[in-house]
This record gives sequence, structure tokens and C-alpha cells, in this order.
Amino acid sequence: MKVRVDPEKCVGHGRCYELAPEVFGEDERGHCRVLWEIVPPQLEEKARLGEANCPEDAISTSEV
Ligand code: SF4
Repeated sequence: MKVRVDPEKCVGHGRCYELAPEVFGEDERGHCRVLWEIVPPQLEEKARLGEANCPEDAISTSEV
């Protein structure tokens, strides 16, 4: 799985990296950055959790 964060939409309130710190981190401004080029299978559920809980709809996942 690949995860992408749209930097135009992310406002940096951090729900993603609070809910799924295994997949999402924060940059120096508190905006989200994805920690994996390819998300390992055991973390795909966490990636989807972040996607589902981003109020800005900034996170998208896709199969590789
Ligand atoms: S939850 Fe969405 S808007 Fe908030 S930091 Fe994460 S990607 Fe950005």
C-alpha cells in the first residue's frame, strides 16, 4: 500500500499521527508526513485509520 498526504489540504492538527504514529509523523510545523515509501501489510489498517480520521480528507491510500 502507498499512502499520500496532500500538503495543500493538511492543516496540521495531528489526528493522523496521534491515532497511527506507526505510519504518520509530523514535520517541524506539525504537518503530517508519511513514514513509509511502501506501508508494510501489518500497518495497512493503521494507514486506513488515519485516512478515515483526517477531517481535511488530506490522506489517500492506494494499492501498489
Ligand atoms: S489528520 Fe489530516 S489534516 Fe491533520 S495532520 Fe493528519 S493529514 Fe494533516
